[in-house]
Amino acid sequence: MLSDYHLHLRPDEVGEAGEYFSQENVDRYLAAAEEHGIEEIGVSEHIYRFTDALAVWDQPYWREQARDDLGAYCEFVASTPLRLGIEADFVRGAEDRLEELLASQPFDYVVGSVHFLGEAGAVDDRRFDVWESIPDPDELWGRYFEWLAAAAGSGLFDILAHPDLIKIWGEDRPRPQRDPRHYYEPAVEAIAASGIAVEVSTAGLRKPVGEIYPAPAFAEMCVEAGAKFALSSDAHAPDQVGFGYDRAVEFLNGLGVERICVFEGRRRRLEPLDGNAELEGAA
Ligand SMILES: [Zn+2]
Ligand SMILES: [Zn+2]
Repeated sequence: MLSDYHLHLRPDEVGEAGEYFSQENVDRYLAAAEEHGIEEIGVSEHIYRFTDALAVWDQPYWREQARDDLGAYCEFVASTPLRLGIEADFVRGAEDRLEELLASQPFDYVVGSVHFLGEAGAVDDRRFDVWESIPDPDELWGRYFEWLAAAAGSGLFDILAHPDLIKIWGEDRPRPQRDPRHYYEPAVEAIAASGIAVEVSTAGLRKPVGEIYPAPAFAEMCVEAGAKFALSSDAHAPDQVGFGYDRAVEFLNGLGVERICVFEGRRRRLEPLDGNAELEGAA
């Protein structure tokens, strides 16, 4: 089966909750999933879109983005066939507050992300560019994967999102001198120790880097460490659901991964990944 757990009903930054948390919009996502042979889908809205998240981290971007009510979102999703998830940023030093917030709603799963390295800035947002505060690529990659390891080991999350997001800008930013595997190592150790599912995300194919997250070398290290995988598109619109899934399935097949994670009530099971038949002819 194919799944897509990292979906956003709402595009980044624009619009009102009511336009996107609607049955019509959900129907568009369900139709897109069906078209791509994806049986299992869930939504994981950014936690910082909800006013409740300011209790976890009060930061300028979050303050600007925090408009929606978390309880209303959860209630809405529960009224649809979608699994209920959330994409929660890892905020170092605020683990207790985040844990409390995540426990307040009946999520099927929590996707954990590292976008901001705290006050140092964001890896994927040029307005808060972390490269300005940490311009050395080796230092930055080291710092990013250290944060990723802490996120993986925190026990707060079920799925580790876009694991090498730091590469998002591709050739626009310098690559580290050292073999990237040196930087992956602590994160892979934390993944193995915690058992968190590693996301294979096609979102990177839509970004300047033009690659799946994570890089093949990172994924191979995860396989060797016995990690399990979850599949996603990180779609922010219905036409991105299942985007690049033929390549993601090929990627997982190449790694010898035969089963992917399925979630319900924050418990997971493994289902055979056998999407080839359904993917024939898909874009
Ligand atoms: Zn993300
Ligand atoms: Zn996302």
